[in-house]
Amino acid sequence: MDATLAADLEGLPGLLERVRAQAVDFLDGLPERPVVVPSQPPGAVPLPERGMGLGRALEVYAERWEPLFSASAGPRYLGFVTGGATPAALAGDWLTSVADQNSTSALDAAGHHLEQATLEWLRELFGLSPAQQGTFVTGATMSNTVGLAIAREWLGASRGVSVAESGAGALGRVRVLSGSAHSSVAKALSMLGLGRSALVPVATLPDREAVDPAALEAALLEAREAGEACVVVANAGTVNTVDFDDLSALAALRDRYGCWLHVDAAFGAFGALSPDHEHLLRGLDAADSICVDLHKWLNVPYDAAVQFTRHRELQVRVFRNAAAYLGPLGESPDPVHLTPENSRRLRALPAWFTLLAYGREGYREIVTRCAANARALGDAVESTPELRLLAPVRFNVVCFTLATDPTPEALARLAADVGREVFVTPTVYAGVPALRAAFSNWRTTSRDVERVARALRERVAHDG
Ligand SMILES: *Cc1c(COP(=O)(O)O)cnc(C)c1O
Repeated sequence: MDATLAADLEGLPGLLERVRAQAVDFLDGLPERPVVVPSQPPGAVPLPERGMGLGRALEVYAERWEPLFSASAGPRYLGFVTGGATPAALAGDWLTSVADQNSTSALDAAGHHLEQATLEWLRELFGLSPAQQGTFVTGATMSNTVGLAIAREWLGASRGVSVAESGAGALGRVRVLSGSAHSSVAKALSMLGLGRSALVPVATLPDREAVDPAALEAALLEAREAGEACVVVANAGTVNTVDFDDLSALAALRDRYGCWLHVDAAFGAFGALSPDHEHLLRGLDAADSICVDLHKWLNVPYDAAVQFTRHRELQVRVFRNAAAYLGPLGESPDPVHLTPENSRRLRALPAWFTLLAYGREGYREIVTRCAANARALGDAVESTPELRLLAPVRFNVVCFTLATDPTPEALARLAADVGREVFVTPTVYAGVPALRAAFSNWRTTSRDVERVARALRERVAHDG
């Protein structure tokens, strides 16, 4: 064994203590760490010929990289839709690497069984029936991709071809209908060989991001007349205004027109935990495939999401990885036959830990607090003359802009100027350039909202 490596093995307990201490320092500093700071990459270091060992590497990391990292795990990183890591999720993530399980097959089953147990909890958390079978993937983009890959196989079956065997070219024209599809849906269609142009936007309700069911029905009718089965991508929580399609109405249309219903509930699925929002998830269980992110509102570290479907046999047709040395397919196929990955980390473990540690009540508290925080920031925006709320705060996102001259440049300057205190990200809503503040981190309190509101007000007042 290399001498440095051998020394690290010998000194591992002490080294892990140092890692722990460094982690505690980072986490202690998180609430006060500048949320984002503009940075340049530090100068390049040549690949070491002889390594320095873990102890010195920890020091170099602390000097060169750690200071540049954002407080994205902290309470005022409100860009995109970003979760953090609860204490239990963090422990689960550390221990995932400690155990380093490759949970691909029943030949070495414990990791697989832990995944199954965790998926059952998640199914219950979101109010889904046992007909919805889940698998872990890396994020909502991959969850949407897997869901749409299964949909693609279903489309093939409806046209008498197997896409898994013959390729997407055998399908002919495909229509994917959606009101306000997330950008990852177009990316998924590109990856799946269906093409971004397969996505056909359907009219939304007035002043809403939710699809107009009547317009969707007209599009389904048109597709039926053209003899084309199609896929509907429903939204349960859009990123700008957290709007929800009427899932029950869409499920009824699916039954009437025989299409595939995929629901992107990346973070909206957590509405099942909020008394004010749970009705918006009615109909979710009827979906053919469902996407839920876990590294957002479940507050597990990157990268984790779950994919549910009622059509496991089609899923296996797409992702089957038959090889003599892997297990048989059987009743409960190994994960290796269910997702794009073969080897994969045991990413269920952080979810298992955090669900066990905090339970449904703990998550209900996080979700309702995030919603209250969003409402409070929405109120603060409304009472600031220089700012304008662009849409009602429906759940956990505040979509706002400058009251006068909201150019993308002016908004980018505003976001950059408050960047040490809060991170918000740009968008365009109803044709108007805007900023979004999304609440999904378990740490965020009403004090943080006050700080965010103060930073924005001081900046716009100063500007005016
Ligand atoms: C975040 C998000 C995605 C993509 O999620 P990743 O985890 O970044 O891949 C897809 N759909 C919706 C609605 C999202 O909010």
